[in-house]
Amino acid sequence: MAAQIIDGKVLAEVVRARVTAEVTQLVRDHGLKPGLAVILVGDDAASQIYVRSKGEQSLAAGMHSVTHRLPADTAEGAVISLVRQLNADDAIHGVLVQLPMPGHIDERRVLDALDPAKDVDGLTIANAGRLASGLPALTPATPLGCMIMLRETLGDLAGQRAVVVGRSVLVGRPLAQLLLGANCTVTIAHSKTRDLPGLCREADILCVAMGRPEMVRGDWIQPGAAVIDIGINRVPFRDPVQAAAGKTKVVGDVAFKEASKVAGWITPVPGGVGLMTVACLLENTLTAAKRIKGLA
Ligand code: NAP
Repeated sequence: MAAQIIDGKVLAEVVRARVTAEVTQLVRDHGLKPGLAVILVGDDAASQIYVRSKGEQSLAAGMHSVTHRLPADTAEGAVISLVRQLNADDAIHGVLVQLPMPGHIDERRVLDALDPAKDVDGLTIANAGRLASGLPALTPATPLGCMIMLRETLGDLAGQRAVVVGRSVLVGRPLAQLLLGANCTVTIAHSKTRDLPGLCREADILCVAMGRPEMVRGDWIQPGAAVIDIGINRVPFRDPVQAAAGKTKVVGDVAFKEASKVAGWITPVPGGVGLMTVACLLENTLTAAKRIKGLA
């Protein structure tokens, strides 16, 4: 039987509608308009697209939104000064530093300057530590999106065997913590893991964030498992004529066709987790605004 598709478009719309309704209420009842500031240093093409989408969607949800576009040669100190200025700005409740930044900037030093209360990407040590300690925290948006997809699909996740492939601070680690918080039994795999296919086959919930196009094959998946494919990889078309013409397409870390014959549920790429990320960023901005104003 073919897997059921977990539709990122539908679920992201549900999240956005909920956020928009709550923003309207906050403005009406408390005069509080959540504000998101995004800092983009340099002209990375993918980052430009993400940043534009974040700005447009936050405005569409009724939020205040500002984007600071800085030239690629901006000094680290100038970026840190801007972060501090936004920390002190009462109209801003969420500050997001778009990564990656140009090589001369130490990303950790910039993130360390960020007020954890406004860290809507959940990347400060304070928020990562709170999450790992099981305390309320601002959590990276992509793992939050994965959890919404899993809860909407499977309901209570307690007791499920979850395997997370990838241990980045932005995706793999926080996702593993969230799954643990939902009472899953969690294993984190990475590039040094032995017998990755065998480990993946043990998973009731398989979450993959490797950045390796279509590496997870159909026979790596336990029949009936829920597969969350976080990977976004741009690859040349298989057809040699189109490839020669420079045409590319986006695929995930999971070989979708094969996997969907075995899995019970699966997220497509595109149309899956990627669409949840910005919606969950808006949700984080709303949460940050409420906490800062003591309304959470
Ligand atoms: P990352 O920082 O490069 O981390 C990749 C992780 O995968 C690392 O932990 C690495 O292990 C592991 N890995 C790499 N090759 C492996 C292999 N052959 N076997 C087992 N593990 C392997 O990447 P990321 O930022 O987490 O992103 C991962 C993917 O998700 C990318 O495709 C990215 O574009 C995508 N992404 C999507 C969204 C979204 O909105 N949907 C958001 C963020 C990222 P080591 O630690 O041992 O090196």
